[in-house]
Amino acid sequence: MNHHIIRYEVDAQGIATLTLDYPGKTMNVIDQAFMDELSACIERMKSDASVRGGIITSGKDSFVAGADLLSMESNIDAMAEMSVAELLTSCASLSRLLRQLESFGKPMVAAINGMALGGGYEICLACHHRIAADAPGVLVGLPEVQVGLLAGAGGTQRLPRMIGIQASMPFLLEGKQLQAVKAKEAGLVDEVVAPDQLMAAARQWLLAHDTAVQPWDVKGFRIPGGGPLDPRVAPGFVVGNTLLQAKTFHNLPAPLAIQSCLYEGCQLPIDKGLRVESKYLAMLSRDPVARGMIRTLFVNKAKAEKGMHRPAGIETFKCRKLGLIGAGMMGAGIALVAAQRGIEVVLIDRDQAAADKGKAYSEKALTKLVDKGRQSREKADAILARITPSTDYELLRDADMVVEAVFEDRAVKAEVTRRLDAVLAPDCVLASNTSALPISLLAQASSRPERFIGLHFFSPADKMPLVEVIRGKQTSDVALARALDFVAQLKKTPIVVNDKRGFFTSRFIGAFVDDAIGMVAEGIAPALIENCARHAGMPVGPLAITDELSIDLSKHAGEAQAREFAAEYKPGRSVPVINKLFELGRLGRKAGKGFYDYDDSGKRLWSGLAQHYPLKESQPLAHDLKQRILYVQAVEGARAMEEGVLLAPADGDIGSILGVGFPAYTGGPFCFIDGVGLPRFVAEADRLADLFGEQLRPPQLLRDMAANGQTFYGKTARA
Ligand code: NAD
Repeated sequence: MNHHIIRYEVDAQGIATLTLDYPGKTMNVIDQAFMDELSACIERMKSDASVRGGIITSGKDSFVAGADLLSMESNIDAMAEMSVAELLTSCASLSRLLRQLESFGKPMVAAINGMALGGGYEICLACHHRIAADAPGVLVGLPEVQVGLLAGAGGTQRLPRMIGIQASMPFLLEGKQLQAVKAKEAGLVDEVVAPDQLMAAARQWLLAHDTAVQPWDVKGFRIPGGGPLDPRVAPGFVVGNTLLQAKTFHNLPAPLAIQSCLYEGCQLPIDKGLRVESKYLAMLSRDPVARGMIRTLFVNKAKAEKGMHRPAGIETFKCRKLGLIGAGMMGAGIALVAAQRGIEVVLIDRDQAAADKGKAYSEKALTKLVDKGRQSREKADAILARITPSTDYELLRDADMVVEAVFEDRAVKAEVTRRLDAVLAPDCVLASNTSALPISLLAQASSRPERFIGLHFFSPADKMPLVEVIRGKQTSDVALARALDFVAQLKKTPIVVNDKRGFFTSRFIGAFVDDAIGMVAEGIAPALIENCARHAGMPVGPLAITDELSIDLSKHAGEAQAREFAAEYKPGRSVPVINKLFELGRLGRKAGKGFYDYDDSGKRLWSGLAQHYPLKESQPLAHDLKQRILYVQAVEGARAMEEGVLLAPADGDIGSILGVGFPAYTGGPFCFIDGVGLPRFVAEADRLADLFGEQLRPPQLLRDMAANGQTFYGKTARA
């Protein structure tokens, strides 16, 4: 047998060591080849009488990070076409193998030397003893739920049998992960030892134990804390399910399926429980929710972070010194995250006091981390020392990169660009953090438009993971590559889009908010609008968001657009409502009144709105409103694709979820459209447009795709 993936060695004492070391990969992943070798190793240990037990460990820094990204992508498409029988077999394959591992008759120890997540941790669960190295990289958990799946190789059955049903819920239902010491406290591992003692400890345990029977295979086994019907446990399912639906509004099938695995599976012997689990895994694998979430949040996000749009053949760029112009809300946040990544930052504003205020943001945020024990004072001080607040552009002569985050005003930005041109090195990339002004237009102020690019961060910039990279008409490949390397250095996820008013994310969220405020003018009950948005999966209601941003900001942003783009500007449906609130002095949360009234006890929708916009006698169905809220965004996404703003559907899907809160369960607008099916999507969008207006009318691109049997992803993807 040729051991490519698992090194198999037996020592003089009869202990077999299985070292997982997938060639050509930085991390071990579980795919068919891996499973075939593990199966062969089990056979070998079983048939070799001199072997008394085995250790599973990893030859890499991490133990096993889970399923293989690439095989996962092809698997999700293949699964959609499998027969039910094939699907069930496929979904149970790792589960069956791990059942063999725990029951072939010899004791097995997991020596966890690094990250053991998903299937990786399920291998550990199928061993008879788990020892973790006390090293910072060791992390164990079952994050499958975060991509719409469940821990389907025994995770939902072994973990509750090991630590109890209630205790297992945060790990299974939320994907909570723990480092070594905490994992031991929670019972996820049995021992924690110094990294250099790991193999010795595993050997010692095997020499002292020859039993190879899991507790759940011993007659009379009882789940710690009681089974699902135990009066101490059963109410947890009722309450848990209610809380879950109150949070997820029935949009996420995975947490419900996991609860079913726990409730049904834990009443049965382990073999039957594992079968229940495989059945629910098969069900989720077929669901567009899991397919979309895996595609966007796992596969495509990883591709974006690896630079899928980075022009090839350009030397890797490392930013050592960053200039930031504008130390307001955005500039201050970007300065903090850059300094945290080891970059020297010169933070410039109009006067020293404003620049100092920008640095104070970092001081406050870092002090909070220190107080919570999440950062040492020394490290926090070192980060702060990297930020130099100033008004002096001369300090930027040796900057590698500059981000401009001054007021959203073309003239102010142009003035800053001219001042920068006078001092920056010729190859220094200049990025604007504008939310919506076309990059090519802003670049006109520069004598080097080829180095000008858009880097649209989201607020708060030190926390939000997305950066929308906007390529202007003249932006060079080098500038794009450097901007992407800079985003990677900040450990953020980039999407790359072409230059057009509103780029992708601003126009996408804008379509939703504009349409929803327009509903107020139509006489739709504000409470219905807010609740339907939340039930559709939006994190915050559209009226509440607008109050947060402030009514005056929305009004002025609209007026600025009208001024700047007189020829193409079409006033949105929201304009009369926003103007009315402005006129009434209801400026939003900061004023204590807007769409809502605010006081110390919280907020309530303003009842006076009905005097200005009387409610329709017959209110639309909640179902239709939820559809309207999702479709108006998906249709806008498709328009952005048709107009060439998006380079690929992946950018739109990632950007919509990570940037502007489109519901993650959809996988983004393009996964959503694919999941519904193009012909059905077009028909439903037409129905909604007839009911509510042309903003919902599907663009020609979708009609053509529906007619040609095309999809955005998979085998039938449009070229
Ligand atoms: P802000 O008003 O909080 O900060 C702007 C800062 O720029 C102020 O400190 C101001 O003193 C400074 N400034 C103005 N003119 C200057 C000049 N000539 N030289 C140096 N400094 C100058 O604004 P913000 O919210 O941080 O937004 C900044 C930019 O980021 C805008 O283009 C905005 O559209 C964009 N943006 C904002 C958000 C957001 O949520 N706030 C999100 C993404 C992008």
